[in-house]
Amino acid sequence: MAGLSAAARAHELGATPVVYEKGTRPGGSMLLSSCVIWRFREWDDFRAECPTGDEALQHLVWERLDEGIEWLESLGAPVVEHETGNPRTVGKRFDPRGLTDTLVRTAGDVRLGGTAAEPTILATGGFQGNAELVAEHIRPAGSLRLRANPWSSGDGLRHALAGGAELSAGLEEFYGRNMPDADFSEGDFVPLAQLYGRFARVYNERGEEFSSGEVSWSENDLVQATAKQPDARAWYVLDDDALAQSVRERKVADIVALAPTRVDPGELPFATPSGARVAVRVSPGITHTIGGLRIDEQARVVGADGLFAAGADVGGISTGGYASGLAAALVFGRISAESALDRQ
Ligand SMILES: Cc1cc2nc3c(=O)[nH]c(=O)nc-3n(C[C@H](O)[C@H](O)[C@H](O)COP(=O)(O)OP(=O)(O)OC[C@H]3O[C@@H](n4cnc5c(N)ncnc54)[C@H](O)[C@@H]3O)c2cc1C
Repeated sequence: MAGLSAAARAHELGATPVVYEKGTRPGGSMLLSSCVIWRFREWDDFRAECPTGDEALQHLVWERLDEGIEWLESLGAPVVEHETGNPRTVGKRFDPRGLTDTLVRTAGDVRLGGTAAEPTILATGGFQGNAELVAEHIRPAGSLRLRANPWSSGDGLRHALAGGAELSAGLEEFYGRNMPDADFSEGDFVPLAQLYGRFARVYNERGEEFSSGEVSWSENDLVQATAKQPDARAWYVLDDDALAQSVRERKVADIVALAPTRVDPGELPFATPSGARVAVRVSPGITHTIGGLRIDEQARVVGADGLFAAGADVGGISTGGYASGLAAALVFGRISAESALDRQ
């Protein structure tokens, strides 16, 4: 998202950018996403939800997102829904294929299957695809399955660090979803996400209830807490009330029915509450890292002269919580192009 947005903006400003895309197709994780590009409705809410993020960077995302969305629409990117469905947020849902095609067309020169030796703007999508970097920085108690494109493995981070870059806060944080603790493929990323932990009793493999407080609406706090449990696993135990709830217009019972790791609570090696109907073994899928390179308000990488970065290569924006990765990629993708061309 960030690289294509940067190139599209640069092209519009009269430059002739080249996008080097390591993968076999353009669009990265954006193409696989639900493609809701959003911000918190209220600024104070953003600060409260992501309290340890860089305030100046957050404010730019909050302030410039609406203009970014209008720009995408002006380029012809197809909107599927004009609301997010969450009263606390505003934004739009785009068709991911249509958005990718629009940005590729506007960017001009997109070369697949390779990378750039001397990039101007880093937009490689974070380091979640590199198990060693995930182990080093995030330190989960078990392996985290990838719930993202397979090519974002920290190339931008390594390149910038070699040039003296500084790191942001929140290197140990990530955004993801608890998924059934079984193999899944790209097509399962959204339908198999077990996004109902707030209605469940949640236990680790030892039968300890490790999440008895309030779970955030994104459930990213619960997902990150799961990553710290033995083998990075948890059990969601549900009663009839929980199964009758709905999440994004889907009944919890229907989401559970798709999970291959659901069992009768009587099969668990620890006691479950009376009324428990079903238990689902889950473990986190990592979608993107939250920590990364430190940038300034012009998207310049701090410590690495002449280098710009955008998207999940950049850290410190949704630190302490969760905010739209597509929004940050869009806003800082555009800013990075304007800065690189000195057209602020
Ligand atoms: C299932 C799913 C659902 C999601 N839903 C939402 C949502 O509704 N709303 C939201 O805000 N976010 C959502 N996201 C997250 C969102 O997709 C990411 O935050 C966003 O794509 C990050 O943008 P990016 O440009 O940093 O990374 P990407 O969009 O992943 O692009 C990075 C690109 O860099 C390429 N690359 C990697 N290394 C190199 C290299 N060395 N050289 C050249 N190219 C390289 C990759 O192949 C990739 O194409 C979702 C993600 C997934 C997987």
